[in-house]
Amino acid sequence: MRQSYELIIGQATEEQSSNYVSFVGGKPRIPRDINIPKCKLCGSEEAFFFQLAFPTDHAWKDKSMAVFACISCVDEKYFIPPMIKGSLQNAIIPAGFLDEYQVNFNILVFQTYNAEIREDYQEKVQFKPISERKIDVGNNSYMKMGGDPLWYLDNESPSKYDDGSNFFFLCQLPENLEFEIVPEAPRQMKLGLGKKIQPSNKLFYRLFLANYIYFFGINSNSGSKVYVITQI
Ligand SMILES: [Zn+2]
Repeated sequence: MRQSYELIIGQATEEQSSNYVSFVGGKPRIPRDINIPKCKLCGSEEAFFFQLAFPTDHAWKDKSMAVFACISCVDEKYFIPPMIKGSLQNAIIPAGFLDEYQVNFNILVFQTYNAEIREDYQEKVQFKPISERKIDVGNNSYMKMGGDPLWYLDNESPSKYDDGSNFFFLCQLPENLEFEIVPEAPRQMKLGLGKKIQPSNKLFYRLFLANYIYFFGINSNSGSKVYVITQI
């Protein structure tokens, strides 16, 4: 049984510095040679939502994961990450899927030590540090990292990637999570009345419709990759 950690989002009063390796918003801390991802639907630079450095007892103990998503366009087909066909529990994920499904979002995986705060990114989501706290089996936090997922609905853990590599649980986010934005940030686009695309009047962004979100990792032959699914 691997250790689980509850994730706790701190206050907006902290100034971002390179000491923080797990946080919401601000500027991403990613390797210099990785471009800020662009949306494959509209070409806009994606917004940075959050990143996590995995703990020393996790399979990705030296790695971090950073999550970006487009806030500039709306397509009902891509409100949430595309899913494979058929049953999700113990699914074998087809070759290429984990590269191709990242259409209007991007999840970067990299060595934590190799990253730096990217000054070429314009902050959109308000910076808040994320701290972690060890929790025991039976704790029912929907915002956690490591150990086993806590499912809102049925268990939909994937089994393997097409090349035989096994998935392991990374982290999960609860429903209705609001990513507070800074005053000068563009508003997230949404579908309004009559399916008209218009800016939201909310001072926060939602990731994948603010559903419950589950992240799994693999170390495949073609690198470390992330599988993400949502439940509502
Ligand atoms: Zn877009």
